[in-house]
Parts: sequence; structure tokens; C-alpha cells
Amino acid sequence: QWTGLNDLREKYLSFFESKGHLRLPSFPLIPKDDNSLLLINSGMAPMKKYFTGEVTPPRKRVTTCQKCIRTPDIERVGITARHGTFFEMLGNFSFGDYFKKEATAWAWEFFTKVLEMPADRLYISIYQDDDEAFDIWTKQNGVDPSHMVRLGREDNFWEHGSGPCGPCSEIYFDRGEKYGCGKPTCGVGCDCDRYVEVWNLVFTQFENDGNNNYTPLDHPNIDTGMGLERLACVMQGVDNLFLVDTVQNIMKHISRIANVQYGADEKSDVSLRVITDHIRSTTFMISDGVMPSNEGRGYVLRRLLRRAARHGRLLGINHPFLADVVDTVIHENECAYPELREKSAMIKKVIAFEEENFYKTIDKGFALLNDIIDRTDAKVLSGEDAFLLSDTFGFPIDLTKEILSEKGMSVDEDRFRALVLQQRETARASRKNAGADAWAGDSDVLDDIAKTEFVGYTGMKATAKVT
Ligand code: ATP
Ligand code: MG
Ligand code: MG
Ligand code: MG
Repeated sequence: QWTGLNDLREKYLSFFESKGHLRLPSFPLIPKDDNSLLLINSGMAPMKKYFTGEVTPPRKRVTTCQKCIRTPDIERVGITARHGTFFEMLGNFSFGDYFKKEATAWAWEFFTKVLEMPADRLYISIYQDDDEAFDIWTKQNGVDPSHMVRLGREDNFWEHGSGPCGPCSEIYFDRGEKYGCGKPTCGVGCDCDRYVEVWNLVFTQFENDGNNNYTPLDHPNIDTGMGLERLACVMQGVDNLFLVDTVQNIMKHISRIANVQYGADEKSDVSLRVITDHIRSTTFMISDGVMPSNEGRGYVLRRLLRRAARHGRLLGINHPFLADVVDTVIHENECAYPELREKSAMIKKVIAFEEENFYKTIDKGFALLNDIIDRTDAKVLSGEDAFLLSDTFGFPIDLTKEILSEKGMSVDEDRFRALVLQQRETARASRKNAGADAWAGDSDVLDDIAKTEFVGYTGMKATAKVT
């Protein structure tokens, strides 16, 4: 039955408290004493030292709702129904205490008893060789074997270099045929939005010595992660994450400012969803102490803000507006994150400043482009000029092309893309020396952010074509 996002969070945490877990607040988005990761991207990330044994956990059973940022998913945001750069991850953790039997039984109890999800809509994936998990799910928990799916290493074995690792098992919700891609191969693990992965249970039971020799751990661990917005999406029966109760109110605010109705047009819907996502991630990042800059986390923040501002332009908004939307983000989240209210003035100031700079820069870019157009007889803008516009003045290539086409001109796109690639290679090489490694999962963050300069917009076009 319909349950609000805030109620779902509470139901989950109190359920695991009733199973002996200690409830901890979300850790900040900036990792502490860990330079392998730019931003916290899962519930387990801030607890690595409890898993490795370096630090003793306050209790062997812990449950949290963790703020997460996943910039590697940025190109999917607004396109799929289920990805955000910001989301909350619910998790229950066992540090050498309970294992597979309890973790799966409680997950099943929470879904089918507490939330009363219909079992016939649920599917379970396991790692192909994990017969133990198959037996537990089907015999102990009573899952219909026809709802069990075995998947390969890539999806269902959790491992980052050497160290603790193990198979995982995911719970999928079947949202029905209308969300399917229609391909004959469509099923659990398909990339479309029909079977949505809601919960991932990781069974950390081996130690990899670095040469792929696996020895069983004496005290295996449990690490689970479930996207709160995904759970709410499924429970509320809405199309995508951005229509979940609390998130939807943010999108409505943007829709009012832009005077654009959600649902009127696929292209503007993508922009509405992207802005909704990015304003959530940036509000939380600033609240946790990230400041705009040209490197690291600050660079991620700056790019997200610029991208949101650009999508605002695409919706026809011609003035800074993001700081106003922050009010709604805070209103919708302050019950769980009261610090947002305390930092409200600071968050809005940072965003307003960045946005004003963005507008100044893009106006300079307009002036430059018009100047080039006036001065030249050529019909093709050089890749170098297009790159300068994109890199220095924040012009997406599509915007450059649009302006040029009004003057009967085009752009040397091949050269432009070669220059973008070249810049990305240089950035990657310089980061290699910075020594970030292992457990990371987001070492490509900056690449992905850089790519959004144009890939994001290409992605948008692709969707528009599909519909
Ligand atoms: P997917 O395959 O759908 O990209 P994932 O396998 O990358 O998800 P995990 O790393 O297993 O995700 O994270 C645990 C849970 O967190 C997922 O089962 C999902 O519910 C949620 N989640 C992961 N990525 C996102 C995201 N970008 N936005 C919202 N929720 C997410
Ligand atoms: Mg993913
Ligand atoms: Mg997955
Ligand atoms: Mg997963």
C-alpha cells in the first residue's frame, strides 16, 4: 500500500532495530580518512574500517540510512526511471555476526510482511555458483524457484581488488509489462525499467589475496543496500524516482518557475528530472561542507550546478533560479536532516553565487561566438573555437550548433570531439599519479562529469527519438 518516503525510512530502521541493530545517523558525504573515494557512494563506504577490523564497531549489528552521491550514474539520470546522482541508501550490516540465513530471512520478512509486497512481483538474483543462497531463498524463505535467477560475476560478485569480497543477491520488483523494453530477452538483469533492482545483499565471505586465491573468512560479514527512493517508487506505484512524494514537490517547484508542465514533452521532462536531481545532490553536498572549486569534490559540485543551470536554460528560464528551489529541497528533507535548515542561508548563498557566475560566463560566450560569426566568411566553426566555448564558457556543443545553424553555419564536430577526448586523457593521466585506488568505484568520476559537457545532451536527444 502507498507509504510516504519518510515513513518507509522509519519502518526500515525500526524493523532492523527490532532485530538487534544499532541505528546510526547518516555519515557525511565527505569520506573521513579515506582518499580512495571522492564522495560517499554507499551505506558501507563510511564503514569500511568496521569491515576490515581496523576499527571496532559500536555494535556487531548496525543499521543506517546513508546519503549517497554517484556521479558515474550521471548520464542515466533523467533518462532511466531509477537513477539519481543523489539518493539515500538503507542498509543493515553484520560485522562478523549473522550471515546469509538471517540477512535473507529479514529482507523477505520486511518486504512481504511489513510492507506487504506481493511475492509474485518479487524476483531474486544470486551469484551463479552460490547454491547455498539458492537453497536458503527457496527452502527457508519459501521463494518460488521460478523467481530465482542466477547472474554472473559482473552483477553478482562484489569485489574491489584484494581484500574481503563475496557473492551478492539482489531483490527485484517487477513493475509490469508496460515498463518493459519488449525484447524477447527482457527479464531480471535487463537494463530497462521493468525489473527494478531494489535491494542488494552482499555476503562478504572470502578474502582475495590479490592473486585471485580465495580463502573463506572466519567471520563473514553482511552488507546490504537499498535505494530509499527506489523503494518508495515501487511502493507508491509511480513512474520514476522523481515522482516519489517528497521528490515530486521539488520538481513541481521547478515546473512552476519554468512555466513548463511535467508530462507535456519528453525533452523538457528530462530537463525537469535532471534539475530536480542535481539540486538535491548539490544542496546536500554544500550542507556537508563541499565548496565549488576547479578540482576534486568542488569540481563535481560546480559541474552539477552548471549542468542544472543549463537545463534551466533549455526550459527557457533566463535568470538564476536554483537557490530558490533549495527552499523546497530543505522543506522536504529537514525532518530527516535538520542540519539543512541550519545551513539554509549558506547553501543558498553558494548556489546563487555560482549561478550568477554561470550566467556571466555564458553571456561572455555568446558575445565571443557572435564576434567570431561576424568576423569570419567561413561556413564552418573550427573545433578549437567550439572547444573553447564549451570548456571555458560552458556552452554545450548543441547550443553552439543551434546558434550557428541560424546563420547558415556548422561546426567541425570531429575536431571538437578529438579535443575533448585529448583533454580527458590528460586529466586521467594526472590523476593516475594522485594515488587513488581500491574500494573506489568512482575513480572515473571526473571523466564522467567531463563527458556530460556533450554526452548528456546527446543522451537527451536519443530519448526524444525513442518516444
Ligand atoms: P543498478 O544496477 O540499478 O545501477 P547498482 O547495482 O549499481 O544498481 P548497488 O551498488 O547494488 O546498485 O546499490 C544498492 C542499491 O542502491 C541498489 O539496489 C539501488 O536500490 C540503489 N541505487 C544504486 N544506484 C542508485 C542510483 N543511482 N539512484 C538511486 N538508487 C540507486
Ligand atoms: Mg549502478
Ligand atoms: Mg545492479
Ligand atoms: Mg547492485
